[in-house]
Amino acid sequence: MTTMRMPIRGILKASAAAAIVFTGLSAGSALAGDAVPQNDLLNATLWMQRSVEYKATTLGIYNLAKGQLDKALADKTWTAIPDKQGENFGDKPPAIVLDADETILDNSPYEASLVTRGTDFSPKEWTAYVKDKVTRAIPGAVEFLQYADSKGVKVFYVSNRTVEEKPASIENMKELGFPMGGNVDTFLASGQEPDWKSPKESRFAFVAKDYRVIMMFGDNLGDFTDKYKGTHDERMKFFTDNAAHWGHDWFMLPDPEYGSWESNPFNNNYKLSADERRKMKIEALEPWKPKE
Ligand SMILES: [Mg+2]
Repeated sequence: MTTMRMPIRGILKASAAAAIVFTGLSAGSALAGDAVPQNDLLNATLWMQRSVEYKATTLGIYNLAKGQLDKALADKTWTAIPDKQGENFGDKPPAIVLDADETILDNSPYEASLVTRGTDFSPKEWTAYVKDKVTRAIPGAVEFLQYADSKGVKVFYVSNRTVEEKPASIENMKELGFPMGGNVDTFLASGQEPDWKSPKESRFAFVAKDYRVIMMFGDNLGDFTDKYKGTHDERMKFFTDNAAHWGHDWFMLPDPEYGSWESNPFNNNYKLSADERRKMKIEALEPWKPKE
């Protein structure tokens, strides 16, 4: 995830002063307006950790996908990536391609720690978090993938977690009950092969060489196309041009925490300060203007 995550995300850091004031408050203190650490991740992380609404959404997606899986297996002309599938793909064994983080793995404990500590994403800390193997499964994902596995579908994880993070990721996922491919390497990490960078289409093509890819799952446009860094209009065009895929053979999981949707308003430019990025995000809003 790291190589993808840095360029696609931005987390606004609580000001050090605010954090100091906050930690200095006693339980009964009235919170001054400027005393609470500000972090854009608060509501998103709270939603993922505490809402039934989030869990019902992901469980619903995976439940609906089950029905689509049965249809896909019965129809040998069905593929989720026709442009990469080649000829006679109906004879190839079926496979599913999924992203890992925030598609099947819930990393809200890490995000929550950024909020509570008033700090920002760090690749080094992220790797330590991965190696701690405390990642949780997103509701519905394990059951769906175990069902697919029982039907003879190979499950490939196309993740931007790094090669260094791969062994702990696999151990964590095994413990959670995800099918891990037996003697086939089904965790395709970023940087594992020279042409496996953050954009994922080269890895989709790699899977499609030997398998009929019947479904894809992600939480980011980059889990479906390398065009995720386009302008807002280009991203919208991709969305509408591919309308028939969504909920049919492509499944998008909600990720309110981070992603190319968030970095798009500041042109994916993480060299900008947190305040500059926030300003550009606010400018991207389409607000209602009350009458005078
Ligand atoms: Mg993801």
